[in-house]
Amino acid sequence: MPKKIPVRQCVACRQQKEKPQLARITRTPQGDIVYDPKGKAPGRGAYLCKSVSCLEKAIKSRALARALDCQIPDEVYDTLRQQLMEEGAQDGE
Ligand SMILES: [Zn+2]
Repeated sequence: MPKKIPVRQCVACRQQKEKPQLARITRTPQGDIVYDPKGKAPGRGAYLCKSVSCLEKAIKSRALARALDCQIPDEVYDTLRQQLMEEGAQDGE
């Protein structure tokens, strides 16, 4: 029996994708916003396609801030952008 892979929605493009294809951004119980590559950090999570275009979309529309219900510092976006580029992220569209 194949294991069912959970599906999550990208906050930018609203596409449903399998969790491993998405980047998780977590607001930790301490209130920090972190990129969570393993998807296991405690706290509230929001999902984004592993694509820079979805990240840019999320920045413009503030979708990530809305999903996590808090301000996202610019440096978090910068870190994310770098991470996504390093992962050679294929565009999800
Ligand atoms: Zn997306």
